[in-house]
Amino acid sequence: MAEFTPMIQQYLKIKASYKDCFLFFRLGDFYEMFFDDALSASRELEITLTSRDGGGEDRIPMCGIPYHSAANYIKNLVEKGYKVAICEQVEDPKQAKGVVKREVVQLITPGTVMEGTMLDDKENNYLASISYISNGEFIITYNDLSTGENSIAIIDRGWDAVLNELFNRPIKEIVISSDLEEKYQNDLTERLQVTLSYMDETLINEAFTNLVETISEEKLIQSFGRMLNYLQSTQKRTLDHLKPVQIIELEQFMTLDMYSKRNLELTETIMRKGKQGSLLWVIDQTVTAMGARMLKKWLERPLLQQNAIEKRYDLVEGFLEQFMEREAIREILKSIYDLERLSGRVSFGNVNARDLNQLKVSLSKIPQLKELLTQFVNQRVNKLGDHLDPLTDLYGLLDNSIIEDPPISIKEGGLIKDGYNQQLDEYRDASRNGKKWIAELEKKEKEETSIKSLKIGYNRVFGYYIEVTRANLHLLPEGKYERKQTLTNAERYITPELKEKESLILEAEEKSVDLEYLLFSELREQVKAYIPKLQALAEKISEIDVLQGFASVSELNDYNRPIFNSERRITIKDGRHPVVEKVMKNDSFVPNHVNMNDENDILLITGPNMSGKSTYMRQLALTAILAQIGCFVPCQSANLPVFDKIFTRIGAADDLVSGQSTFMVEMLEAKHAITNATENSLILLDEIGRGTSTYDGMALAQAIIEYLHEEVHAKTLFSTHYHELTSLEESLAKLKNIHVRAEEYQGKVVFLHQIQDGAADESYGIHVAKLAELPQSLIDRATVILKQFENDQTRETTKQTLVAEDDQQLSFFRQEQNKQKDNLTKHKVKDSNLLKSLKKINIMEM
Ligand code: ADP
Repeated sequence: MAEFTPMIQQYLKIKASYKDCFLFFRLGDFYEMFFDDALSASRELEITLTSRDGGGEDRIPMCGIPYHSAANYIKNLVEKGYKVAICEQVEDPKQAKGVVKREVVQLITPGTVMEGTMLDDKENNYLASISYISNGEFIITYNDLSTGENSIAIIDRGWDAVLNELFNRPIKEIVISSDLEEKYQNDLTERLQVTLSYMDETLINEAFTNLVETISEEKLIQSFGRMLNYLQSTQKRTLDHLKPVQIIELEQFMTLDMYSKRNLELTETIMRKGKQGSLLWVIDQTVTAMGARMLKKWLERPLLQQNAIEKRYDLVEGFLEQFMEREAIREILKSIYDLERLSGRVSFGNVNARDLNQLKVSLSKIPQLKELLTQFVNQRVNKLGDHLDPLTDLYGLLDNSIIEDPPISIKEGGLIKDGYNQQLDEYRDASRNGKKWIAELEKKEKEETSIKSLKIGYNRVFGYYIEVTRANLHLLPEGKYERKQTLTNAERYITPELKEKESLILEAEEKSVDLEYLLFSELREQVKAYIPKLQALAEKISEIDVLQGFASVSELNDYNRPIFNSERRITIKDGRHPVVEKVMKNDSFVPNHVNMNDENDILLITGPNMSGKSTYMRQLALTAILAQIGCFVPCQSANLPVFDKIFTRIGAADDLVSGQSTFMVEMLEAKHAITNATENSLILLDEIGRGTSTYDGMALAQAIIEYLHEEVHAKTLFSTHYHELTSLEESLAKLKNIHVRAEEYQGKVVFLHQIQDGAADESYGIHVAKLAELPQSLIDRATVILKQFENDQTRETTKQTLVAEDDQQLSFFRQEQNKQKDNLTKHKVKDSNLLKSLKKINIMEM
């Protein structure tokens, strides 16, 4: 250490406390990085790597960025999941004895971003924390620094439930204690791909105790403390906009596990990872960023209480009834800015006059919004306006103080209206009078010298000057003017009286700029006092926006209001898939009914590939979710139970990250559904067993169906290409076969995408191959082989029937019987091995 220069020593000392961050070390107009930071930053940011002498033997790697363009570089690093520590000079270099004092003033981390350009308007940006309590109990806390939201949830069903809760939510960073098990830490970084940060201190600082008044349990307070301490250690300032913690009662919401959130593509698609093509993409008709964020939250947590859901329907209906008024509301909402994030920035201290102006404009719209809401016939809609507070005091304050079109900078004046502050008016008068005097002087000089082109100008270096073109120089009297600057075509002069006025003007201007800054800071402090009220207003506006959005999307896409029943009945008339119908051209989506009563828990769906089986299954789940977030649903009519949980095993969404095989994932998802579902749940299982050999897969599929039928009783849609399974309808009372209709037309298969009762009678695989224009000889050969298989199968079935006669019931769950069967099974295994060997023999070559 001693070999380094004092500045590098200072750097190393500071860097030691911020090992996991890029340390942006302020040096004059630059932020510099040294050593390893410089090496990685030059790589990540593609900036030139240089070096400097630091007192030691070797030169020190260094790279730097100009401080005024730091924002983009910071954004770049934070988006990649890194953290940046901003280290500023905290004393005036001119006054410093020795090395200028420097301190880290803020850490910018993925979960604590405040800068507008780094945030997605339509999405929250969460910092979360996880605390392990005991016996599979975990506590999760959430904070969105940009909006001030704080919440907390208890998970008592183990680590998987933690992952389910966190999955697909906009969480950028998770704070944990340093001793959280490594297995868990790996899951967080690899499966959820979030940045991890550590904080062991859980004791809450006094400044924040008001935030936890809503909770009483010590373990919750401590978990929240972990997150608050992290926030404080990174932000290093007061955070007045943080809202009191809200407890999320997870049992009040529909449970959607990680697999379902992903498979159903609620907020993003599996392939593209983007919003486009997701359910959210279709239903988002909000017009404010606040509304878009709230919609996403609603979609992440469908409701379970019928009353609460129906209250939303009533409001949607109210908005639907009056198109003109609804459009007028949309127009007004469009001119309301993001009050939530504005409030956050007010508290953070980084608002400018434009932001306050946006606040003013937004507030000015509230009375109109209230008035419009009274024009609805629906009383629930009227009531939405009751609690909208236009904050007239705040509006008046901003209207009197900030000019209409202020500059971005708050340090160069020109922000505050005349008449707001007497002292400021006086300074401004002085400067205006001075300028007027100068304008008169120009006129006078022109007359006296008869130089028409003479002018008085101003620049930062020479101040005010009199400019005379070269051609007119001979007209100037001797001695009166002092030459200051020579240009190619002109000379610039000053006079003592000009300089005297200039210093008066400049002094007044300087004072007025300083005063404006002071007044602006005071104003900001005054606005701070309104933050809770602004946040409440933002919440109400978001809700109005989401509900009008539901009405708009329902009208646009012809959705209808569902009805609920408590008899576990599903009756959907002409249901559609909300996303598929949108991406299909020319209204070609074929609607389908869903009918399941209490006598009927399982629908076994058969039909050729690509006929629409999984679309049909998904559309039921999406309809249920839409219904439970309070939106109308894509169908003619729907009568539904309230589902407590939805489970899915759909598609080939391999869990590549955790390195598991498709089949393993299939089994895990199935297990998850089977062990967690209740009779009020909905389960979708698409082609279970596909990932393994035919018999293996079919056996498992049948066993799963039987188990669901006997033990779980959840409403289940099960699609399969094992036609053999359709015979289960005879033995399982609550299972019903349905199939997707396909027709042959002139030797080709035509998918009608129509669901009908009964099992599909034929396999259309070969016809599909024909459609794909595989060579004719290959198709012919496949037809022959199929015939052969079919013959074999008849034999197999006969064999099965024989076995079944021996042992009346074929069941996987009656342990006793299985034991009895053991002997028999051994023989069968032998037999089939023999049979296999025989089949392998190529008689032609013997
Ligand atoms: P499967 O699960 O039977 O293999 P999918 O459900 O994946 O079939 O559907 C295949 C394609 O058929 C979909 O991508 C869609 O384009 C089309 N499709 C499915 N259902 C319908 C429908 N009801 N109306 C029109 N087209 C449909």
